[in-house]
Amino acid sequence: MSNKYVYSFVMLAVITVILAGITGIYRNNTKEEKKAAQENITVITSFYPMYIAADNLLQGVDGVTLQNLSEPQTGCLHDFQLTPEDMKLLSTADVFVINGSGAETFIADVIKQYPKLKVIDATKNFENLSSHIDEETAMHAWMDPYLYGLEIKNISDGLKGVLKEQETELTGNEKTYLSQIKKLQNRVKSLRQTLKGRDVILFSEAYLGFADTLGLNNVYLMDLDEERQVSSGEVAKVMNAIEESKDVFVLAEDPYGKDLGTTVKKERDVEVLYIDTLTRGDYNRHRYVEGMQANLDLIKELIERETH
Ligand SMILES: [Zn+2]
Repeated sequence: MSNKYVYSFVMLAVITVILAGITGIYRNNTKEEKKAAQENITVITSFYPMYIAADNLLQGVDGVTLQNLSEPQTGCLHDFQLTPEDMKLLSTADVFVINGSGAETFIADVIKQYPKLKVIDATKNFENLSSHIDEETAMHAWMDPYLYGLEIKNISDGLKGVLKEQETELTGNEKTYLSQIKKLQNRVKSLRQTLKGRDVILFSEAYLGFADTLGLNNVYLMDLDEERQVSSGEVAKVMNAIEESKDVFVLAEDPYGKDLGTTVKKERDVEVLYIDTLTRGDYNRHRYVEGMQANLDLIKELIERETH
């Protein structure tokens, strides 16, 4: 081989290597981009308690954007109307986490509009639970730490179905969060021993599960979960229910139950506890655990006041 041929051969080899290298880099880049695009999943939650649950489950899970549909001060979604902006936000979602059991009255419209949207129903299969749960209780399931634990499990299972590669992280987060909820469940269990069968009056249907899990006997429910006028007839009925029950106390919501709570406390000398419905607050993932702890503290303090 002449020098000239050797030179050409070497040059060709060099060019081939460079080209192969460039193609390789290019291939890797597109692969990375594709992977990133695939992993960038948008999870939207319907309202505050679902956001807090999902936020705990998604800690440190890469490639997920978590957003809440409603404002964090919205409260329950009973009368919530979807705006065009809400629908627009939902069009960006891969996953929509809901409480289910009728809490999101608009869900049928969303499914109709976005039939491919993956919906995670936190109260899925609640109708099959051994202890019968009525729909009003399931609608506010997070107010019972036992049912909330099941909601976390349902949400976690749903997320694992979508984020298959992050299953380990999700399982770890689920365990961590459930261990915190377990402590609340244990407190409920111990309070129930003292409270079992005791009469209670509820000023919001959001407390049905809370009262039930504490073993309380709900003798009267007046739903004051929004700003409204209370008629004198309604006040009379509550007064009557107080008189007919034994060692009764009231669970009310601040602010909606405050006026009536003040009235019954003054006129019937009955204990009124203002229980947090945990539907409003900052986007702080400890909000549920801290809020439920505070609720259970109120119950514990009531027992202590009575026994001292
Ligand atoms: Zn509600």
